[in-house]
Amino acid sequence: MARSQTRLTAEIDFDRDGKQHGFLRLPYSVHRSAYGWIPIPIAQISNTGGNGAGPRVLLMAGNHGDELEGQVALGRLIRSLDPAEVRGHIIILPSANFPAAMAGMRTSPLDEGNLNRSFPGDPTGGPTEQIAWYIEKELLPRVEFVLDLHSGGSSLTYIPSTLGRRPETPEALERATELMRVFGAPIGYLTMVPLDGPTITAAAARVGICHLSTELAGGGQVTPSALRIAEGGVRRVLHKLGALTTPPPPVEHTTRLMQITGQDYYCYATDPGLFEPLVELGAEVEAGTPAALIHSHDTPWREPAPVAFTRAGTVICKRVPGRVERGDCLFHLATDLVA
Ligand SMILES: [Zn+2]
Repeated sequence: MARSQTRLTAEIDFDRDGKQHGFLRLPYSVHRSAYGWIPIPIAQISNTGGNGAGPRVLLMAGNHGDELEGQVALGRLIRSLDPAEVRGHIIILPSANFPAAMAGMRTSPLDEGNLNRSFPGDPTGGPTEQIAWYIEKELLPRVEFVLDLHSGGSSLTYIPSTLGRRPETPEALERATELMRVFGAPIGYLTMVPLDGPTITAAAARVGICHLSTELAGGGQVTPSALRIAEGGVRRVLHKLGALTTPPPPVEHTTRLMQITGQDYYCYATDPGLFEPLVELGAEVEAGTPAALIHSHDTPWREPAPVAFTRAGTVICKRVPGRVERGDCLFHLATDLVA
């Protein structure tokens, strides 16, 4: 019933076999365009033998517009995948929050919307709310699995990682960690995500489908090494799910399985100023290990403010811009998975 409420329309036919691309049209009436729409690129590559058989997968990137590696990887996948090597349906949404992607920003310049804090969205809300609603109510129910490619974006950089919501049962945990090993990023970590949350992770849990996400690297750039992990990982997961029949590139990293279980894994700036990191990505730290010094711009004769880690762990994420405000995230940790 709720599905009919969306204002978005798709130029592609989700029930058709073959390779299609076009736009989701999001009606947007503004001064320069009274009857216009926002064109959100979408593709589907399908081979179901005409009877809808085979796995159904949604691949997404650009949920945050400044997270670039996944957007490049999915564009290349659209161009390179041949329906003959596909089984079932693969829907590809490379720049999910398209207005944010076009602005190179995490959030949409049209409504300040953060797509991954907007689920389930609102069919009558701003553009970001409408996109969230369309994904949760129209796209997720069409698939059994969603892979959402994130990265550190402009403000963070990661050791390339896969992540997901920690499942309740041992069997589901085994399945989730197996997919992380198949993707083949250096790290795979599980987090606690409440079911009523505003992220796609929670949305997938609400719809009852499997979900995997990534934090590929970031720093507002695309690197060959992160792209290689992204492209190989997507193909390996598709192959594992039975959606791709051609052999994917072999895994190059043994995935270290890790977890984040609380807010104490995150390290924040205690003062505004210039961020001097004291550790690098991959560092093993203890509670009390110095993390950073925050230097005072306007009173350089004042001693910098020290920031320390509040628990032990491995540094898997680090802030990029040197200028910080109080409350900015400087690092986050992960610890080895306790099954
Ligand atoms: Zn993101």
